[in-house]
Amino acid sequence: MKVTEHIGNAKGETLFSFEIIPPVKGHNIQELYDNIDPLMEFNPPFIDVTTSREEYVYIDRDGLLDKKLTRMRPGTVGICASIKHKYNVDTIPHVLCGGFTKEETEYLLIDCHYLGIQNVMALRGDAMKEEKYFEPTSGGHAYASDLVQQIHKLNCGEYLHEVVERDHCADFCIGVAGYPEKHMEAPSLQTDLKRLKQKVDEGAHYVVTQMFFDNKKYFEFVDAARAAGITVPIIPGIKPVAVKRHLQLLPQVFRIDLPQELIDAVEACKNNKQVRQVGIEWAIEQSRELKQAGVPVLHYYSMGKSDNIKAIAEAVF
Ligand code: FAD
Repeated sequence: MKVTEHIGNAKGETLFSFEIIPPVKGHNIQELYDNIDPLMEFNPPFIDVTTSREEYVYIDRDGLLDKKLTRMRPGTVGICASIKHKYNVDTIPHVLCGGFTKEETEYLLIDCHYLGIQNVMALRGDAMKEEKYFEPTSGGHAYASDLVQQIHKLNCGEYLHEVVERDHCADFCIGVAGYPEKHMEAPSLQTDLKRLKQKVDEGAHYVVTQMFFDNKKYFEFVDAARAAGITVPIIPGIKPVAVKRHLQLLPQVFRIDLPQELIDAVEACKNNKQVRQVGIEWAIEQSRELKQAGVPVLHYYSMGKSDNIKAIAEAVF
């Protein structure tokens, strides 16, 4: 079922969902199942599976470093298929511009269609570690809006290279990313919202936000998005702080602010076990207020370990 149908069927009740990351190449999928199992009692209608783009690794060959391009966490579509069939839940692969040509994207989408995957999250992806700015892959897309356009065309039976099959259309529900504290490269929140509107105009059906730790930012973002003419559901993304290093890491990587009260609480912790508890309590408060405000879904970034998400879900759902 499509995300928008799940939201419609919920009739105003807030749904629970979460995002997982594929295991590192060579690890076992059982690790993922072990983290998903405890969360299934909260009936997630859908689970997102991230995609990581390729990166350079350096292999030591008798003192000389051999530089190789590799994808460290491959398998998104396969994982989506296996979770979908094991748990009878909808799965959402994240589809990236970075690292993929349009043809590769088309093949990936066709695989999803054959597998009965009805939702995809369309994202640009970040710059590679060695790059200062995002460089579009040769033959790939520069912006998520272009990717949305490709998926929308497939929904109309328009494949690449002028192949048109109106009787064999895909029917993907398309999610895109939104940034309550603006995307790091956008010159202003207003410009970023214009870009978000463009993604919706190209065919996106819903938005999932970047993590935020102050609900005021989400509420203001939704108001601004509505004022800009964006009418699709805007799903808040919640990440519980889990280790002390997150105080530096999260603002650095995601360009988001942490409220002083949260910083003080984390700094007062003696160890990461205590930090994890602070993160859980903060996310519970955030989630309760968002649920009270009637958000369609509370979507959690699980980062591979689900004990904290389970504790939050137990308190909120
Ligand atoms: P875009 O919408 O393309 O925007 C990127 C920047 O370009 C913005 O600053 C925007 O304002 C600007 N822009 C957009 N269109 C134009 C235009 N036509 N002209 C000029 N400027 C423009 N990353 C991963 O690698 N894998 C994942 O699985 C993943 N999942 C994510 C899930 C969520 C919910 C979120 C919020 C992010 C996720 N990301 C993921 C991170 C994402 O790839 C990065 O934030 C990336 O830098 C931007 O992606 P986007 O889709 O928002 O890009």
